[in-house]
Amino acid sequence: MSAGEFKLRSGEEARCEDVRLAMGEVLDGVADATVQSAVEAHVRTCPPCATEMNELRGVVEGVRTLSSVPPQPGAYKPVEEQVRGGAGPTADEPGFWEKLRRMFGK
Ligand SMILES: [Zn+2]
Repeated sequence: MSAGEFKLRSGEEARCEDVRLAMGEVLDGVADATVQSAVEAHVRTCPPCATEMNELRGVVEGVRTLSSVPPQPGAYKPVEEQVRGGAGPTADEPGFWEKLRRMFGK
């Protein structure tokens, strides 16, 4: 538990500093209901924190989008080989481009 969370749980009026410390956890969905409602209540009345939260949300979603793409080098090698007219990853299974050619009757 972070110091910010403790202050948000205590029922005192949330301070920007504490709200911002807890924002990441709220956006990640790992903050508990008390912290989440304290942050949400605060950003409704505090435009600077609302802006901060929107920016952070954009970053969090951007990271999620990026991390859904396999980052390994060579991940697209099979595709590259087929584009160059190679046999593809397996001999029995028609490759992606071959399936596409068949689909369009060429
Ligand atoms: Zn604030």
